[in-house]
Amino acid sequence: MNASASLISFLNVGRNYGTGGGLVQALAGVDLEIRQGEFIAITGPSGSGKSTAMNIIGCLDRPSSGQFRFLGINVGSLNRDQRALLRRNYIGFVFQGFNLLNRTTAIENVELPLIYRGMARSERRDRAAVALGRVGLAGREHHTPGELSGGQQQRVAIARAIVTDPLLLLADEPTGNLDTQRSHEIMELIAGLNADRGITVAMVTHEPDMAAYARRLIHFVDGHISSDSEQKAA
Ligand code: ADP
Ligand code: MG
Repeated sequence: MNASASLISFLNVGRNYGTGGGLVQALAGVDLEIRQGEFIAITGPSGSGKSTAMNIIGCLDRPSSGQFRFLGINVGSLNRDQRALLRRNYIGFVFQGFNLLNRTTAIENVELPLIYRGMARSERRDRAAVALGRVGLAGREHHTPGELSGGQQQRVAIARAIVTDPLLLLADEPTGNLDTQRSHEIMELIAGLNADRGITVAMVTHEPDMAAYARRLIHFVDGHISSDSEQKAA
């Protein structure tokens, strides 16, 4: 796939919650273009629309007005199942709280997205083991989350996100629960997935030190993009 092809476009996207006097304009006419291979950090104060934008990018939600396109597809015209297919095939998600299944081993957590794809067990196991190797967790396949550190749990979550070879990795505060050292290790890993495997990355973060790993910085204020600039790699 062409590294500069358009992956995401927002055309005057609005997203409202509530009605009448209780109406909240979470996004107020956002234009945004993200090409394949980019590494983007999204920053902005609490309530500025970051998560709303991420939910739309992740095909979990749809605009109230304007148009959102993913790989040129108008996602606003898709139903729930069609959007689920887009997510399953093209997008990996990483969250602040890791969101792993607790009494389930690392490799079983990583296999989950492949089960949804109907892949045979032996192939699932092989692929999950490769993904765990990529995040530096070879040898930890049979540990449960409780037997792993926070940084290791986030590595399992990243392995789960990339096991399907997604085009896009979406991360909402991926280092929010980690100490500084572990945060930098996770950012090195994410930056490596972008640089070495060409995975497009969009990440929300409050921390300037973590945003510094991205090549493009987008700042939200009051449901608008207030700045959008290229930056040198950390
Ligand atoms: P951020 O992630 O930047 O903190 P959000 O995108 O979560 O901001 O929220 C943007 C605005 O939309 C906020 O005013 C928030 O209260 C509101 N909002 C978000 N989700 C909902 C919802 N499900 N129902 C009502 N209001 C919401
Ligand atoms: Mg948020």
